[in-house]
Amino acid sequence: MTAMAETVLPSIGRVRLTDLIAVEGLPSESYKVSISTLTQSLAQYSAAIIQLPISDGALLRSSLESARLFFHQRAYSPPEMAHTSDSREWCKTSGYYADPQILQETYDYRPGFTSADSNGSMELPPAGLSDIFALLGKAARHILDAISFSLNLRSFSFTEILDNVPLRGREMSSSVLSVCCHSRPSFQGAQHHALTASEDGQLVMFPDQEHQVEKSLITLLKSDRAGLHIKDFHGRWLLVDGDLGPQDALVYPGLALYQATAGYVSPAVHRTEIGNMDGSMYGRCSISFKLMPKSMASFNCSEMRAAGHGVEAQFQLPIPVDDFMQRPHPTDQLLTKSIFPSYGFQAEQDAMKPMKRKKNSTRCKPLPPSKRLRLEAQRVLKERVQDIADKKGIKLRFCNLKECEGHLQSRDSPCGSIRMEIGWPPGVPFVHPHDLPNKSKLGFLEAYEPGWTAAQQDIENQSP
Ligand SMILES: [Zn+2]
Repeated sequence: MTAMAETVLPSIGRVRLTDLIAVEGLPSESYKVSISTLTQSLAQYSAAIIQLPISDGALLRSSLESARLFFHQRAYSPPEMAHTSDSREWCKTSGYYADPQILQETYDYRPGFTSADSNGSMELPPAGLSDIFALLGKAARHILDAISFSLNLRSFSFTEILDNVPLRGREMSSSVLSVCCHSRPSFQGAQHHALTASEDGQLVMFPDQEHQVEKSLITLLKSDRAGLHIKDFHGRWLLVDGDLGPQDALVYPGLALYQATAGYVSPAVHRTEIGNMDGSMYGRCSISFKLMPKSMASFNCSEMRAAGHGVEAQFQLPIPVDDFMQRPHPTDQLLTKSIFPSYGFQAEQDAMKPMKRKKNSTRCKPLPPSKRLRLEAQRVLKERVQDIADKKGIKLRFCNLKECEGHLQSRDSPCGSIRMEIGWPPGVPFVHPHDLPNKSKLGFLEAYEPGWTAAQQDIENQSP
């Protein structure tokens, strides 16, 4: 995959599912090209657009419509809000639940799940779930095989850790179809106070928990309105479902694939807009199929080793899927690794400049540099510095700018020991990032996100 993968995609890759389906014999040209686009798009954008066959468009559309109505007619009832976020339940969710903090309601469809039912109600599920489950499940397996081809693995390498097709006896599906609704007005009304404005009076576009990573191998998602953002390899947020046609779905990798491929496929870090629903009666609905490993299986990277890939120590010991799924997986630890084989992005930046940018580019319009700097610094403070402080049990109490310029000179200052403990950059006053002079913000960002400045210059270069 080396030679063919060394192109830089100007925007998220788009591949037809039929071109990704493996057939006996030598790989066709269209197969190779599609694999290359898929691989490259996953490496650069942690996502790709999959075009399903035209005949599947009707089912996708009617499933979304039925989802919309299902949520719309639902009364808001606080007792249900308490959804178990118990990580032991990672493969057992079923039925309706809601997470008011992120204004999200979900109906999970999990074939084979039988229980006294989550709340004993006689509620009818959204229509067509078993058909859409089958459709997206099949597509997901083809895509997973395409990924295994790109990694030079034996065909069907992942079969061992996947559910039977069809399920046997009393088996319960590990994979799940999640029908979701974000920010529907009738649900939102009750929660309105939660989202009107942030501390500095700006309209909140994203919930607080900004970094979500799926536990799946891969997730296939279809939404009825744009709002999903994924971090690209530069760490920039990109709107990824802004340009989906009727047959298009989005695919992005999750934690299980990261583990199963010894870190060669990084999981997508995503977030969903909760604001910006002007004039919408229904909010934003989506259907996502999460292809999950069986809880009884275990990850071992023997196939990766057999294909000649270097497998780092952390992936060498076999780990039961169930254990892996219950562990916390801080995203910053996953992302600091250099995960994909190097494609020489830096060297190719220049080659990329003359490339015409697509009119309908899904790229977000860059903010003015000073604003971006401020937001970035605040984000880093929230994520990195706060995290370090929490781990060390330090309460952050910032100085004011004027005073702290003095503190920097003196040996004995009130903020000296905190600065040292959390690795605050030398020479930068110990104040909240929105009070930092821009030049100091740079020092701050570079200290907590090495390479930040270089990454920003790339953004500037690419902007017209
Ligand atoms: Zn100070």
